[in-house]
Amino acid sequence: MTSSINPIKKIVIVGGGTSGWIAASMLSYHLKSNLCEIELVESDDLGTIGIGESTIPPVVRLIQNLGIDEQQFVQNTQACFKLGIKFIDWRQKNESYFHPFGVIGKRIGSHDFYQCWLKATMQGDTSPLQDFSPCSVMAEQERFFWPTQLQNTPIGGASYAVHLDAKLVVEYLRGYAYERGVKRTEGTVEKVTQTDSGNIEKLIMKDGKEIHGDFFIDCTGFKALLIEKTLGVGFEDWSKYLPCDRAVVVKTEAQEKRPPYTTATARKAGWSWKIPLRNSTGHGYVYSSKFCTDAEAKSTLLKNLDAPRINDPRVIPFATGRRKNMWEKNCLSLGLASGFVEPLESTSIHLIARGMDFFLRFFPDRDCDPTLIKEYNRRMTADFEEVRDFIVLHYCTTQREDTDFWRFCKNMELPESLQERIALFKGHGLVREGTDELFRSTSWQSVFEGMGIRPNKYCPRVDNMDYQEISDTLKMARQAIQSMVKNLPTHDEFLRQNLVDD
Ligand code: FAD
Repeated sequence: MTSSINPIKKIVIVGGGTSGWIAASMLSYHLKSNLCEIELVESDDLGTIGIGESTIPPVVRLIQNLGIDEQQFVQNTQACFKLGIKFIDWRQKNESYFHPFGVIGKRIGSHDFYQCWLKATMQGDTSPLQDFSPCSVMAEQERFFWPTQLQNTPIGGASYAVHLDAKLVVEYLRGYAYERGVKRTEGTVEKVTQTDSGNIEKLIMKDGKEIHGDFFIDCTGFKALLIEKTLGVGFEDWSKYLPCDRAVVVKTEAQEKRPPYTTATARKAGWSWKIPLRNSTGHGYVYSSKFCTDAEAKSTLLKNLDAPRINDPRVIPFATGRRKNMWEKNCLSLGLASGFVEPLESTSIHLIARGMDFFLRFFPDRDCDPTLIKEYNRRMTADFEEVRDFIVLHYCTTQREDTDFWRFCKNMELPESLQERIALFKGHGLVREGTDELFRSTSWQSVFEGMGIRPNKYCPRVDNMDYQEISDTLKMARQAIQSMVKNLPTHDEFLRQNLVDD
């Protein structure tokens, strides 16, 4: 019997930002170059967005899964380590909380840690939830060590991500993909032609050159040249849930002391980030143009810098939402071309890798079976919506009423899916968790707790356990984490011991 597979022999990636080079790296790792040619087209004239410095743990796994030496990658991208995010002034001014990576507590008997802790708080125990998170305690003391080497200790279950220089990441992955046979073409795409069936046929470059392919990946950033300008799939706008639509960004000289976390501080009309790298510190103010002018935003950002500036502030407008179809016909969109949710939880780079993981899982032949496309779009929509709901949670639970922006956030309309999540948590301390959810229960618990929302009840099954055992376990676990963490190197010592300053 002969196979009816009509294999893709050439994939063209348009765009050479982080999404384009992640796509090229992953394809070149998984496909044999003699079976499928990969060509990436990028425009030096247009350049890349050049931001995206904070990540989450799956991005480290992406690097490991590509067979890249992690230490070399960290060295080459001026990276520092990240244990989570410190949120300042979100619930009320002068209050802060931490959203850590990794576990928070370990099961007690057959019971979920959070439910046991909840019962303990209702019995008068005052131990903060974050005292049971290895990453929170490490971050508080600004300490760091490889979590993989701590596995069978009281702080096993810690996890980490990295803060990195976006331009250096692109350079690194470009080199990686080159070595594996990816062809790079420099130039600007001026026109895109389609076949009678509507598939993308070829790109016509400014110099007249034509580039044909069987399958195209749109990594053209906010331009969305193929998926929107050519195929017109449409955009689902989420600005009614997330009103921020601009960011102003700048870099300062590197700090002497680099904390192992991102800082996200609530401001008058949005929030600002601070991301320590080894060669510099990234700063940005994400704001809503309905509540703040560009000039005001720039002034707020510059006023709060604590080191000399090394470049000029740059304003970046953005739209929040997603493409109605992220895969259409013979075109997949990735990165900013596929959609964008503000970078409060550093999810965009991860969503690029996630998109590629699903694409490789649902890898088509030239027929691009609609059932594959439908399933891909369903999965990626679920991810985007989960990220959106989680980000909205940070805003809608505020108690702040000191500015128009925060009054709007406190009273805004919520997506139905988020309303359901909030009701489940408030009633029972439960979080919707499937095998494919991006944010685990501990993430939702951390933000709810940080924003002052505690469930009304704990799981009644916990009453089957002797309360003294719960109380003793909590006390011992808390002490064990504290005494282990205080013996770890500080993050700066760790960087000095493991990385060479250029
Ligand atoms: P771009 O970097 O814009 O690349 C687009 C590419 O397409 C370029 O190479 C360009 O030259 C090319 N191109 C466009 N048109 C043409 C044409 N006609 N012909 C040829 N080439 C063309 N993500 C995180 O994970 N963490 C963060 O902390 C984070 N912070 C962010 C802060 C802000 C304010 C914003 C806006 C985004 C942030 N992101 C963050 C998202 C992150 O920056 C992007 O996901 C990432 O950089 C990928 O961008 P991209 O490759 O899709 O687009």
